[in-house]
Amino acid sequence: MKKILLFLATASIIVACTTNAVTGRKQLALFGEATLQQQALSEYQSFLSQNKVVNSGSSRDAEMVKRVGNRIASVITQYYTNIGKASELNGYKWEFNLVDSKEVNAWCMPGGKVVVYTGLLGITQNEAALAIVMGHEITHAVAHHGNERMSQGALAQGLEIVGNIATANNPKYNNLFNNIFAPTAQIAVLLPNSRNQEYEADHFGLNFAAMAGYNPNEAIAFWQRMAAASNGQKPPEFLSTHPADENRIARLREFMPEALSYYKPVGK
Ligand SMILES: [Zn+2]
Repeated sequence: MKKILLFLATASIIVACTTNAVTGRKQLALFGEATLQQQALSEYQSFLSQNKVVNSGSSRDAEMVKRVGNRIASVITQYYTNIGKASELNGYKWEFNLVDSKEVNAWCMPGGKVVVYTGLLGITQNEAALAIVMGHEITHAVAHHGNERMSQGALAQGLEIVGNIATANNPKYNNLFNNIFAPTAQIAVLLPNSRNQEYEADHFGLNFAAMAGYNPNEAIAFWQRMAAASNGQKPPEFLSTHPADENRIARLREFMPEALSYYKPVGK
């Protein structure tokens, strides 16, 4: 009996190992994207109801967050369509909200639910740098990085994943989901962002920002400001999940020629 279960588990893991549409990297995806999106939507709504959302009708910053987000979402949709992978974005209903908080942070949940904290804008300082950060966070979502991390977590915790995966009604699933996606959990659990995922989010986030008409060169200055902001004190939340070391900046310089090849400035 045990052998059969083991076999089934192995088989389902092989099946669940998919090739990422954007990056070409093989990754583990044990959870259905629709289930993740459904849970993310309810998490997102509850987060917005418990925090102060800045009204885009009366705030240029909130308007900017929506403008940048929509531009990036639109080039990503175009990009996935061009490479024949439009279905990867099934169920995406993009939302971009600015939340009043000193936290230096931003995130994107499965399904395209994005939050930017006002505290981040003091460091981005311009629209292109905001686009770099949003491009990075959105890439984590569209590259299914959360699913990968949940899948790794499920294996590590021995969550029963044989048959058809956990459902949103399963408390263990909920726990895992909250550990990966709940905004309050980001610092504790998202801290050891895998190097691969960070690399991909930097690389493709930069490309997507450039395709959306934002100067990718702003990424260097932005990460230098992030590094300066953490000097001698507790680093901003975003920084602690996204270490701004010299390696990252060196890497961004390597990505720059490719990103610049996509860059067509548009208006403001
Ligand atoms: Zn990241």
